[in-house]
Amino acid sequence: MSLGKYSMMRAKKHLGQHFLSDQNILGKIAEAAHLTKKDCVIEIGPGRGALTEFLVEQAGEVIAVEKDHSLQTLLEEKFKNQSHLKIIFGDFLDFDWNEIDSRSFDRPLRGKLRTNGLDPRNDKVKVVGNIPYNISHPILFRILEAREKMTTAVLTVQKEVALRWAALPGGREYGIPTVLLQAYGSVERLFDIQPGSFQPPPKVMSSVLRIQFGAPLYDIKEPQALTRLVRRAFGMRRKTLENNLKEFYPTEILKKALQRVQMDPKIRAEKISVREYVTLANTLAELL
Ligand code: SAH
Repeated sequence: MSLGKYSMMRAKKHLGQHFLSDQNILGKIAEAAHLTKKDCVIEIGPGRGALTEFLVEQAGEVIAVEKDHSLQTLLEEKFKNQSHLKIIFGDFLDFDWNEIDSRSFDRPLRGKLRTNGLDPRNDKVKVVGNIPYNISHPILFRILEAREKMTTAVLTVQKEVALRWAALPGGREYGIPTVLLQAYGSVERLFDIQPGSFQPPPKVMSSVLRIQFGAPLYDIKEPQALTRLVRRAFGMRRKTLENNLKEFYPTEILKKALQRVQMDPKIRAEKISVREYVTLANTLAELL
């Protein structure tokens, strides 16, 4: 189908619309997710469907979530023969993860599969998207909430954000999202994309990240307690750990916990490894 009349449509800045058309880059993004016909992919923000084409080709099922209703005609027209693609027009931040369990594509649902001899499909999904940069962090936290339902997320984000999410302890880039993400998934920065590869070009460099949620990396007793601890520890960057935490935990308990995990109360939040955060959160949870 010719996209002539649609290419006249202006990209919407408030929706972070920067469309990719470089087939080589799109192919590399899709490849990073290692898709097979057993996979179900959730695509965040299909836009004009450039990446969707690769996903539809390689995966068994695709659920694409697009907030911009004005793309509906274009997308539905472009993919009208693709019964294994479902496009939901709505906000990914409101995405109902139960959609995954109630998939009703032409491929039979799980329970029925065993009787008709087809390959069972994978239970867990993969998430792929060239995501709107202004909501990268809310998207990350939505993904983390549903981490048990997925194996992999391949996300194109602003390079600066990629450096933060993939950071090692010690530097300025290491922060709340770094720790909360790396507590659950392993993160790789795969490659960068120049602004000129997007239409319209963003002002910043982009990077493609692969996040893998495999076997649990750490024994996290209470995920909520870890989230609270990390947010509190990074409260004021120039303060020591103890000073950031003291208003939230009883003095004696905090002291005892730090002693037990052999952590210097004067350490700064960015010097503490993910493993150390987990151990401290577990210890605090136990003592409280
Ligand atoms: N994947 C396409 C488009 C990327 S631009 C490509 O690579 O060319 C980001 C896309 O996310 C846009 O289509 C934008 O409309 C959509 N988007 C923005 N906010 C969204 C949200 N909250 N939920 C779902 N999609 C959103």
